[in-house]
Amino acid sequence: MLGAIIGDIVGSRWEFNPTNDYNFELFSDKNSYTDDTICTIAVADAILHGSNDFGQYIHSWCRRYPNPMGGYGGRFAQWVMSDNPRPYGSYGNGAAMRVSPVAWASNSQEEILHAAKLTASCTHNHPEGIKGAQAIASAIRNARILREQYGGKWGKEEIRDFVRETVWKFPEYNIDIQIEKVKNRFDETCGGTVPVALWVIQNSTGFEDAIRRAVSLGADADTLGAIVGSIAEAIWGIPEWTKNKAITYLPEDMKSVVREFHNRTKNNKPQSAIIYGVEYPNPDTVDWVPEVVPSLTLKEQQYKTFVRGYTPDWECRYAPYRFKDWLYITRSGFWLKKFCFERCDDGLYHLSKLYTVKDMAGKDLIKTVLIEGYFKPQIYGWQYNTTNVETLGKRVDVDGEE
Ligand SMILES: [Mg+2]
Repeated sequence: MLGAIIGDIVGSRWEFNPTNDYNFELFSDKNSYTDDTICTIAVADAILHGSNDFGQYIHSWCRRYPNPMGGYGGRFAQWVMSDNPRPYGSYGNGAAMRVSPVAWASNSQEEILHAAKLTASCTHNHPEGIKGAQAIASAIRNARILREQYGGKWGKEEIRDFVRETVWKFPEYNIDIQIEKVKNRFDETCGGTVPVALWVIQNSTGFEDAIRRAVSLGADADTLGAIVGSIAEAIWGIPEWTKNKAITYLPEDMKSVVREFHNRTKNNKPQSAIIYGVEYPNPDTVDWVPEVVPSLTLKEQQYKTFVRGYTPDWECRYAPYRFKDWLYITRSGFWLKKFCFERCDDGLYHLSKLYTVKDMAGKDLIKTVLIEGYFKPQIYGWQYNTTNVETLGKRVDVDGEE
């Protein structure tokens, strides 16, 4: 949630004065919080008060701050001023920039999607507005869960998978975006902002990098900054100095909501894992039985490829997956095996620990995965050269076989 506020503050000065300079000054005396921060704070405040009436909180916070930098958009401004505010069918990106707190307040996808809808529908009750809010909330939730899985160590491939897992549920969003199509285009719609935000995330390497990319696109700088910042926070966390600096721009009542919301949600750990779009229980909650460890070695390259995992095909074949320090074999929402390799003096990776869920005891799924799955071309694009399949397959030393 603070990520959204930071993106808003950093982008504020460029909303009506766009820049394409990636190395712009992050914080200056020309920056301020804008409507994106106020609405995000309002959503968090509603959650802190156990209320589902996000409209009431957004309305009263915006009235408390009637003239933020950049002002409020035309229709929204009328809604704020009205004593009897009613939703007005908006599909603007305002639905996506204020939604982030709901994705930290719960772990259940169902609850988050429901709450996201409620944060949007008090004003942005057009299906595109609701979808934009739900997609961003979903992205933040997925990022929180996957961050647990990867222990915070994200590479390009993990980020790409994460974005794909998010858009999987929102197939109308196309994130294969060419920069010329979005650069210096001010698009205030959800449909024109949400996919761009996900595309920015997919190309980014850290919190600040993501915000700089979003803001220097020359688009709706503060709102795109806020949306990208809200997801970037969940992926990479926020550098301490950035947090401390940003908070100095906020008035006391906003600071106290940020603090309280953080305290309320900081121990809220995801209870599940998402793997290729399928929801699994947290594997730490599964009963694991130790097994005799068979002799199995992999060469470095084989090990690295194996560890990276691959997506199951449409028949949902067994697939390997990495979660924290363990490798797993999964199938259709079930964890089946967990194991570790250890690099030894001979330069090879030796299978060193092996656990199984009860009814899979004795089945050598590692071998099955290596031989039947590992070398097949993959649906997500990291394909192996099929001429190498046999050669590679023979090099695997499974139970003394060649
Ligand atoms: Mg704004």
